[in-house]
Amino acid sequence: MDHVERPRRVAVIGGGISGLAAAHRMRELAVAHEIPLVVDLYERGARLGGALETIRREGFVIETGADSFLSEKPAAIKLAERLGLAGEQIATQEQFRKTLVVRDGRLVAIPEGFSLLAPTWLGPLFKSPLFSARGKLRIAIEPLIPRRRRDADESLASFVIRRLGRETLERIAQPLAGGIYTADPATLSIGASLPRFVEMERRYGSVIRGLRAAARARTAELRGTSGARWSLFVSFRGGIETLVRAIAARLEESIHYRARMGAELAALTPTGETPAWRLKFRDGSVAIADAVICAAPSFAIAPLVQPLDRDLAATLADLTYASAATVNLAYRAADFPHAPDAFGFVVPIAEGRRIIAGSFSSLKFAGRAPAAMVLARVFVGGALQTSLMEMDDAAMIAAACAEFSSLLGVTAEPAFGYVRRWPRSMPQYTVGHLARVAEIERMSASIAGFALAGAYLRGVGIPDCIASGERAAEAIFAQLAPAIG
Ligand SMILES: Cc1cc2nc3c(=O)[nH]c(=O)nc-3n(C[C@H](O)[C@H](O)[C@H](O)COP(=O)(O)OP(=O)(O)OC[C@H]3O[C@@H](n4cnc5c(N)ncnc54)[C@H](O)[C@@H]3O)c2cc1C
Repeated sequence: MDHVERPRRVAVIGGGISGLAAAHRMRELAVAHEIPLVVDLYERGARLGGALETIRREGFVIETGADSFLSEKPAAIKLAERLGLAGEQIATQEQFRKTLVVRDGRLVAIPEGFSLLAPTWLGPLFKSPLFSARGKLRIAIEPLIPRRRRDADESLASFVIRRLGRETLERIAQPLAGGIYTADPATLSIGASLPRFVEMERRYGSVIRGLRAAARARTAELRGTSGARWSLFVSFRGGIETLVRAIAARLEESIHYRARMGAELAALTPTGETPAWRLKFRDGSVAIADAVICAAPSFAIAPLVQPLDRDLAATLADLTYASAATVNLAYRAADFPHAPDAFGFVVPIAEGRRIIAGSFSSLKFAGRAPAAMVLARVFVGGALQTSLMEMDDAAMIAAACAEFSSLLGVTAEPAFGYVRRWPRSMPQYTVGHLARVAEIERMSASIAGFALAGAYLRGVGIPDCIASGERAAEAIFAQLAPAIG
């Protein structure tokens, strides 16, 4: 029995949204149970937030990484509410809620009711110039294609070709669905990335029938409710980093919280006594902890757990990441021959361009640009265009401008272009991902006082990362609390 009169310490490694959510949940639980539990957050870099970064410049609110989150998954909205941010949340601007896709060098609207892989209704599909007559017919017969008998995971490409045909994959599913993960559709796991489509096939024998059932259920639900509903994507008036700042501010209110920047964990050693862990950092400093939550990317954690569990280390080391960059561009609205009127556009790889997607941040959310200006941004790189990451900043801005000129007719130079690189930032959920994650969870759960969180586990989106951090905190709290309480 441990008689030492000292508060227990939980070390959180990584100050991205997963680590921040873990630290916050840990303090929340400690306060609710009146337990003196110290949270030490260690971040390798100079700032908190990881892939959430907002910059203000010349009246623009610039998102260099994530720009919004899905309101359908509750973890982010619930956390924002607990942080007192409900009034800061903003919805997308309805009048521009449209996404385009590049087809033969031109921007074409995605048919109404099209949901990532498949249409809900055939009317808008038949009128769309996006598909050939043969391609449309192939989509239309999807409800007649027998459901798959095997339960094994498959790739996005295999799923879409099987159910909807190759044209759907190349012209819309690859840029829309593959684009979210900046992934190669031939290796992206459908079960890990878009499980609801797998479920639709299983339950309705068809994704089109499944989408219709979901649309009918939504209509019925809307009839039964009144008042405002959140748009699909949500952000904050002051930018996505508002969430990071609010979590940090809430944590800093407590004397039981400390954050150390420039602290890269280099070794994690079990002591065999209390406190259970010794942490050694790259700069040679050391610290102790009763429990550790690792919320850094899997490639950073793998070498740390090598001495603890070789199989866990090997499985973590096997997970791959893609790199990407964003280029924010500030244009005058008058620079566009036709005023843009959509959230943005996606670019099929088959179009052979140097950008994955483009968006109009100042149309998507109000208050992102001064009057008469348009803030746009493009994505570059991803698993299918890795060589483009070798361009220097000037070349990347020039490539983005050239694509804007060709697709939108903008020939003017932007007021500024801002490049932000995100090396190894996009975990690649390859076929079999969920089985590997189940193994990772099983192995990590068998190490006492140790938990994992992060985008490489069960979802890359902000709400998934928050849920992952909170789950890790709850698991560790459940282990520590009985010994303290
Ligand atoms: C360009 C881009 C755009 C995106 N857009 C969206 C979007 O619009 N909506 C959405 O929901 N999601 C989006 N995502 C995905 C989402 O933002 C990320 O999946 C999520 O932010 C990852 O959070 P994380 O905390 O798991 O990892 P990270 O943000 O990578 O944080 C991990 C932290 O760990 C630190 N670290 C690493 N090694 C160590 C070590 N040894 N010791 C200490 N610290 C260490 C790193 O410095 C980093 O700060 C986007 C991602 C990117 C890159």
